Amino acid sequence: MELQFMESLLRIEAEAKYFFGATDRSYEQTLMDELLKIIEEAESLFGPRDRSYELLPPRISECGCAHPYVYPFRKIRIYLTPHSKTRHIASYHLAHEAVHVLGPTRSWTTVLEEGLATHFSHAYMKRVYGLQFDAPNRWYRAAMLAVSPLLAKNEFVIKELRARQPHLSKIDETLLVEVAGIELEQARILCADFESSWLVPSNWNEYATQGSQLFVEGFRSIWDEWKSR
Ligand SMILES: [Zn+2]
Repeated sequence: MELQFMESLLRIEAEAKYFFGATDRSYEQTLMDELLKIIEEAESLFGPRDRSYELLPPRISECGCAHPYVYPFRKIRIYLTPHSKTRHIASYHLAHEAVHVLGPTRSWTTVLEEGLATHFSHAYMKRVYGLQFDAPNRWYRAAMLAVSPLLAKNEFVIKELRARQPHLSKIDETLLVEVAGIELEQARILCADFESSWLVPSNWNEYATQGSQLFVEGFRSIWDEWKSR
């Protein structure tokens, strides 16, 4: 809660800096141009963005993590971290956040949505900049590992899922099983709340004991690490 309050102050600060001309506006415009290209690419793979939301130019802020923020009147802006003054870091964050703004919600995100955003941003950086990025932390890495097999099996699976449910984090187990043809247990992992699922060990133990090796490697090591903290 305190963190959210802090982030909202930092967003206000970023807007004030822009208002008083303390922002590099041409850089933000360059980032907006790139964001639009990224969105086009994401749409071709994952289906259309909800265009009832007006996308405002990205803004560099002092925020600790890049994130989209939904304003009243269906406007949405991506806030970037101070590190995004370096172009390729901005591009990396924009590619990740572009996935979140396809069908924006104010609710929590699932392992599926975060894994897809991480997978997409990594692929984008490799293709466009020739750079291999590490996931921001082990949780993002695990989410990415969970999503990768789905995409390897069917590159357009997300597009097919979003044709039925445009909000990534509202895609439920039943739809995943039906459209992606995966096991219910895999679907449960993917539909778990990204942040709080790490705090529910029974999911991981249950899943691990079933012996499915498809995703479990990444998750197991994370759970072991988490346990020993
Ligand atoms: Zn994210």
